[in-house]
Amino acid sequence: MIYFDNAATSWPKPPMVVRAMAGTLSKIGGNPGRAGHSLSLCGGRVIQRCRELLAEAFGAPSPEQVIFTSGCTESLNLAIRGMLFQGDEVLCSHAEHNAVMRPLRELEAAGQIRVRVLRPNSLGLITEEAIREAVTPRTALCVLCHASNVTGVIQPVAGLARVLKGYGIPLLVDAAQTAGVLPVSLRELGADMLAIPGHKGLLGPHGTGVLVLGQGMLPRPLITGGTGSASESMRQPEQLPDRYESGTMNLPGIAGLLSGARFALSHRAEIEAYERELAERLRRGLGQLRGIRLLGHPGADKVGVVSFVPAFTDPGELADRLSEKGFALRAGLHCAPSVHEWLGTLRSGACRAGVGIYNTEEEVDLLVEAVARTLGAE
Ligand code: PMP
Repeated sequence: MIYFDNAATSWPKPPMVVRAMAGTLSKIGGNPGRAGHSLSLCGGRVIQRCRELLAEAFGAPSPEQVIFTSGCTESLNLAIRGMLFQGDEVLCSHAEHNAVMRPLRELEAAGQIRVRVLRPNSLGLITEEAIREAVTPRTALCVLCHASNVTGVIQPVAGLARVLKGYGIPLLVDAAQTAGVLPVSLRELGADMLAIPGHKGLLGPHGTGVLVLGQGMLPRPLITGGTGSASESMRQPEQLPDRYESGTMNLPGIAGLLSGARFALSHRAEIEAYERELAERLRRGLGQLRGIRLLGHPGADKVGVVSFVPAFTDPGELADRLSEKGFALRAGLHCAPSVHEWLGTLRSGACRAGVGIYNTEEEVDLLVEAVARTLGAE
């Protein structure tokens, strides 16, 4: 199987990720942050090392402001649900994933908030002007997808963040498709919170992620429970990260994430260059086939996500036929219906290839060839 579903989750995972997870399961018992025995302390040290690595990489004011979650969806839910109050307005882009849109629309349907979707320009980019036009005195949060998981288009987040700062509006960035690949940090992007999956660009296992909290960001917790701290109190501790990390931590997952993130972050620039090159090659190849529409304006800067719509074949059927030929792609709406609506592909959906560090130029060429053969489009 030639794997091109890296936008969903990167695969294969580096061997050291697998070793770190297996090592944790076979050697580290106990529950980190609970007991005082050596195994529990050892698990606690693994978690702390991962927290410190990610805090440094993503510019958290302190390691305690890196909150472990089950993935980007939980990070986004925690930030969105925890920050908003009755009567608030929220800005977001047309490119948001359902991990953002569903909580927002749910709160809106309950009459708690109002959502304003920012209109992009013809390149698919949110402009500073669009933000200025949409801001009202009630705007309490802006959520922006750093790069679309459908078109790959990268939003000019830093410039937009400067405008939002001028109004005092906090910015939550969904870095699902960019963390570990593009330069991503609170400082670099001017963001107040970063939602990050552990299992995509950071090369960690499924079910891992973090929410990085900037200065003064204290969302209300989504869940409460045992933290191993202040156990005499019936109230959730205020201190970070305990306020957000109730229950037994995903130690094997975090150990895997530590290994994956160490590798990804120390090679980030090379990974970015390599994935850009592969994606460009893929776009060039597919672009030469008759009856293929590539999504995402050619003039916009993009990450390694390449979506395309065949003119006369259902994208789902194309993906199935490619799967029979040994290629793993994903078809459909990719949990981001608003961007498909904007592109006019809500009914058809698209086929998506997400390139990763283990893909090669040869694999890209084989995919182009397989698409051409399947569609009879050479
Ligand atoms: N946002 C975007 C832009 C995504 O691509 C994804 C994953 N498809 C998510 C959020 C959700 O991430 P997770 O699977 O880690 O919950």
